[in-house]
Amino acid sequence: MRYPKMREIREAVISLFSPAYTSPFPRKGHQPFEGYRGKPVVDEKNCVGCQTCANVCPSHAITFSDDREKRIRTITRDYGKCLFCGQCQEHCITGKGVTLSDKIFDLAVTDRKEVIEYQERDLLVCENCSAIITTRQHLFYLHGKLGPKAFASILNLNMLNEKLRLEDPLKTDVPVIDHLKRKDMFNILCPDCLREVQVKTLGP
Ligand code: SF4
Ligand code: SF4
Repeated sequence: MRYPKMREIREAVISLFSPAYTSPFPRKGHQPFEGYRGKPVVDEKNCVGCQTCANVCPSHAITFSDDREKRIRTITRDYGKCLFCGQCQEHCITGKGVTLSDKIFDLAVTDRKEVIEYQERDLLVCENCSAIITTRQHLFYLHGKLGPKAFASILNLNMLNEKLRLEDPLKTDVPVIDHLKRKDMFNILCPDCLREVQVKTLGP
C-alpha cells in the first residue's frame, strides 16, 4: 500500500502525545509490583554455605566447589542462568541466606561474568580420612538451633570447645598420625571415623 491507513496515522498521533507505557529506565528506577521476584541477594551473615540452595536450583545457577587443601568452600551464583523461581529463598535453611529482591535491571550487562557472584566459607574436613563434613558456619548454625542438645554429638562438642578456646591441652583440628587412637576422639573427625574411634578403641 502506498499511503498508510488513516487509522494507523491516528494511533501514531495518539501515542506521540500519550505518556510512555514502559518504564523510563535508566533515567528513573523501575518500580516493580509487590511480590515481584527479581535478582537474588545473598546475606553474607546468614548464608552458612550448607549447599541446600544449590540442590534445589532448577537451572543450576548455584554451584559449589570444595578445596580440601585450602579448606574453602566456594559458592558460585550465576544469575545469568537464574529463572527467579524463588526456590533458593524458599528452601534456605536459615531463612535469610538469600532473598529475591525487586531488582532485575541490574542483570542487564554486556559481560556475563559481571552477574556471577562468589562466596567463600570455611570447610570442615575430617582429620583422618579427609572426608568433607560441612562448613564451619553450617555447624555453628546448627549448634545455635540445637542448644544444649548439640553436646550429644562429640563432633559438635569438639567444635564448641574449639570455638570457646577450651581446646588446650586437647588440641583439635590436628592431623591424625598413623591411625586413629583414643585421643582422636577430641579431634575433628567425620561421623564414620568417630564411630571407628568409639567402637574400635573404646570397645571391649
Ligand atoms: S544458608 Fe541458604 S543461601 Fe546459604 S548455602 Fe544454605 S541454603 Fe544457600
Ligand atoms: S531463583 Fe531459582 S533459578 Fe534463581 S538462583 Fe534461586 S533457585 Fe536458582
